[in-house]
Amino acid sequence: MIPRVYRIEHRREEYPGTFTLEMSADRGRPVTCDPGQFNMLYAFGAGEVPISISGAGRRDGLLVHTIRTQGLVTAALERLKEGEQLGVRGPFGQGWPLDLARDSDLLIIAGGVGLAPLRPVVYSLLDGRGRARRTQLYYGARRPEERLFRHELNQWGRAVSLVQSVDHADSDWPGHIGVITGPLQASRINGPETIAFVCGPELMMRFSIRVLLESGVPASAIFLSMERNMKCATGLCGHCQWGPRFICKDGPVFCYKDIQPWFQIRGL
Ligand SMILES: Cc1cc2nc3c(=O)[nH]c(=O)nc-3n(C[C@H](O)[C@H](O)[C@H](O)COP(=O)(O)OP(=O)(O)OC[C@H]3O[C@@H](n4cnc5c(N)ncnc54)[C@H](O)[C@@H]3O)c2cc1C
Repeated sequence: MIPRVYRIEHRREEYPGTFTLEMSADRGRPVTCDPGQFNMLYAFGAGEVPISISGAGRRDGLLVHTIRTQGLVTAALERLKEGEQLGVRGPFGQGWPLDLARDSDLLIIAGGVGLAPLRPVVYSLLDGRGRARRTQLYYGARRPEERLFRHELNQWGRAVSLVQSVDHADSDWPGHIGVITGPLQASRINGPETIAFVCGPELMMRFSIRVLLESGVPASAIFLSMERNMKCATGLCGHCQWGPRFICKDGPVFCYKDIQPWFQIRGL
């Protein structure tokens, strides 16, 4: 429960209001974490927020988080400069079940900042720790310049085939325009042989799940990452209770089959 002090080594603005922090532990060994887990980041004097791990370098030991400014704490994190410190508690939660993808087609579907917790999945495939028969990444964003990790998306082509769609773009945008479920629906999904990892705004996840189920992907092969306000991150305070489960310790990644009744209640 005690935060460890980390120092910001690199700070990169992804686009205005969204930034990536690469951090190293001031003391002790770097933590190991699974793709899809999260940490509680503590901006001293402001508070603590849950943020997914968007990278954990095996060689450089750097811990990476990608954050969109929403309110008090994320705004305080945005003001931090390279060399400054913050507190880190974690890692917490259940991540993506990469082992289940080994003999399947892996479909990764991300919307906006939802790509952040899926980046470690792509890195696992790139460095051979994770394996899938074939991987497709469907990424939707508002505008081309509001895509995360733009400087590295091209390199991901070694491990995944990337389909991108944006809501608004100029005529020089080579990808799709419209919601990401458009190209997803048009693709040939081999339903029974597919496992899907989905993260993004809840509305986008609802529509993606509908397309997946219609394409024959079993509910037991669809996994999604959920967000709710949380405080302790260890299942004690009850802030993130969702039906009979806690997002912090039973999630944030859930199998759709297990949460279907609660996911269908909007606003729960
Ligand atoms: C498991 C988990 C992983 C997360 N990973 C990331 C991540 O990788 N990157 C990232 O940018 N954010 C992530 N979030 C969301 C992040 O925790 C919130 O944006 C943050 O807690 C807002 O705190 P604040 O003090 O800045 O804003 P507040 O002052 O608490 O809130 C400001 C406004 O934002 C709204 N808000 C608060 N929390 C959320 C939320 N979870 N989703 C949407 N709106 C919210 C509030 O209702 C309010 O209107 C994650 C959340 C969870 C639960």
